[in-house]
Amino acid sequence: MSYLEFCSNCGEKNIYGQIDGGIRYHCLNCKNIHYENPKPTSTSFHCDVGKLDNVANKRAYKVSKQVASLAIESYNAIKTKGLDITEGARYYHTYEVSPRWSKVYPVVGRIGDHIFYK
Ligand SMILES: [Zn+2]
Repeated sequence: MSYLEFCSNCGEKNIYGQIDGGIRYHCLNCKNIHYENPKPTSTSFHCDVGKLDNVANKRAYKVSKQVASLAIESYNAIKTKGLDITEGARYYHTYEVSPRWSKVYPVVGRIGDHIFYK
């Protein structure tokens, strides 16, 4: 089973066909397009435990906290059902880069262009 066989948004079966200027997996139910080769991305996180947050945009801060809470709740639900195909991976990168730490952590799998580590 391909990870693109079913919609990651609604769980319905995807179809493979012309959409958004290319031939891609997409969901007829919720209209979600599943890009197989998204551009490499990077994220970073800075932990400053103990420092007070100096929030300039309180509305954006509130929305960010709500999104983070939803992500954690969603992950916990996925994990409880045994559907975490990354097995709790904490690190990942695209196959196009080779960070130093990739030799340290065990690989748990690969999804598309991304390699996941514990
Ligand atoms: Zn869908």
